[in-house]
Amino acid sequence: MTKSQFDCIIIGGGATGAGIARDLSLRGLKVCLVEKKDLSEGTTGRCHAMLHSGGRYVYKDKVAATECAEESEILLKIAPHITELCGGYFVAVDDEDVEYGNIFRESCKKAKVWCEEMSPQEFLQEEPKCNENIKRVFKVKDGYIDPFLLTIYNAYDAKLNGAEIRTYSKATDLIFENDRIIGIKVLDKLHNTTYELYGKITINATGPWAAYLEKDLQLEKNLEIAPTMGTLLVIKNRLVSHLINRLREPGDGDIIVPSHQSVILGTTSKLVALEELDNLLPDKEEIKYLLNLGEYLIPSIKDHRIIRFYSGARPLIASGGPLREASRKFDIIDYSDEGYEGLLTIFGGKLTTYRLMAEKTADLICEKLNYEAECQTAQKPLPGGEQKITQKVFEKELKVDEKTAFDMQYKWGTYYSDILSLCETCMDSYTSLNKPRTICECENVTEPELSWTNKNLMVKVMDDYRRRTRQGMGPCQGQFCYYKLANLEAKWTEKSHSQIMEELKTALQKRWKIEPSANEYQLRQIKLAKYVYLLGGNLK
Ligand SMILES: Cc1cc2nc3c(=O)[nH]c(=O)nc-3n(C[C@H](O)[C@H](O)[C@H](O)COP(=O)(O)OP(=O)(O)OC[C@H]3O[C@@H](n4cnc5c(N)ncnc54)[C@H](O)[C@@H]3O)c2cc1C
Repeated sequence: MTKSQFDCIIIGGGATGAGIARDLSLRGLKVCLVEKKDLSEGTTGRCHAMLHSGGRYVYKDKVAATECAEESEILLKIAPHITELCGGYFVAVDDEDVEYGNIFRESCKKAKVWCEEMSPQEFLQEEPKCNENIKRVFKVKDGYIDPFLLTIYNAYDAKLNGAEIRTYSKATDLIFENDRIIGIKVLDKLHNTTYELYGKITINATGPWAAYLEKDLQLEKNLEIAPTMGTLLVIKNRLVSHLINRLREPGDGDIIVPSHQSVILGTTSKLVALEELDNLLPDKEEIKYLLNLGEYLIPSIKDHRIIRFYSGARPLIASGGPLREASRKFDIIDYSDEGYEGLLTIFGGKLTTYRLMAEKTADLICEKLNYEAECQTAQKPLPGGEQKITQKVFEKELKVDEKTAFDMQYKWGTYYSDILSLCETCMDSYTSLNKPRTICECENVTEPELSWTNKNLMVKVMDDYRRRTRQGMGPCQGQFCYYKLANLEAKWTEKSHSQIMEELKTALQKRWKIEPSANEYQLRQIKLAKYVYLLGGNLK
């Protein structure tokens, strides 16, 4: 038998794959994770970022609702630095919603999801921008979670515990020894080379792409997966400070999530083909449709600027019925039932339940490898999450303004002391006021944060800083910070001038790709940036 380099190979660096890598490495297994783009660049980085209380699923999907309620409690404990228990409201805007309120209350009780009714007047005092005709309100324990850093800290912890994390590495084929899967062929996209990896067991954690790897197998029954596209709009300003859900069965445009300095409105639900998954983008009609629905919750929503829109595909288990009814439960496929050993596929679920999905998968892997070790992920904090570091501490220690400190408290946790020491040692991080230099003005990202990210968080190309720090995610979409970042990248790395220019171009083009569906504001922004970079900066 071919010798295995690893106990386990994981394909897919979304929350699920990174969660499995962390779980297994903490149990002492030797793991390698391959991701074809950057960590969290798939569905995980294209979601609503909602830490579900379970309320949304109580009526039709009780199991998923209970899982969400239990897992969000765990995540708030192990990741206080990237979560925010802002609380949520389910609000009725018409008589049908009001009636659904009774079903909602009963279903919450059955699914063990906490909820409490409150008066619309009391609610409007908390959320004055919401529709003043709201008729009925329930409070729930919804929260926000940073999906990028959640994935990246999971992968980072796996790495600290011996795992290999290989981004921009695409699994192209499975390698067989008779009917056993013993490894994968990998395309290294940054160097355009191929190589092979061998492992005792291979995990397909590629979310909506999961069916692709089945091409190498001859199966009686293929994956019952329904990749379902959903679109989200990022709107400037924190218009609400709690999550606002429409009080009805899950539908389109019925959730608003506060996220850093903006709110995210979504979503829609449309079945897409496997070939479309890498290029999902909404059209103008879909954006207009979402805004019209958003008006029911915040009547002034159209007066605010849309910073960006994006679409992701939910890796849902197909139910055969309406898409909204596809289950949010997860499933693990063991191909030994079809005569193939050494391969498992995990799919379905939610971002909120990624840890539980990873635990169940890791339990099965250990059973198959005849290896005994307990899961630690429900107790052990994620890196940086050992303690909640408040906004005040960031303000005082790092001498940053209120807004920067507000954003920092949802990223770095106990790593603030590392960032502080980088400020102190890196003289040109300091302005004359002894404050760290701000690189991204929209998202308040400072140079020492980027420097710490460069040293620790597995950055390969310039676009990777965005997912780790939010640099370039604000209203100007990187127009004023990418050239400053390019300068730092030249200082921090051995990369050639032409490579940095190439990476700069790729990063900017990703920001500009929304052009076909952009509104007037966004078009102006994109055009100005293009002139500045293409003409002024001689970016070819
Ligand atoms: C619009 C929308 C809104 C959502 N909102 C929420 C929410 O608010 N809260 C919540 O809890 N859940 C939400 N979800 C669900 C949640 O985002 C997903 O369940 C979760 O992120 C799936 O994670 P994953 O790791 O399984 O998949 P992914 O994040 O898609 O990860 C799979 C990874 O595999 C990689 N990959 C694919 N093929 C290969 C290959 N051949 N080789 C190497 N790598 C490969 C991909 O690049 C990708 O990064 C939402 C989903 C959508 C679409």
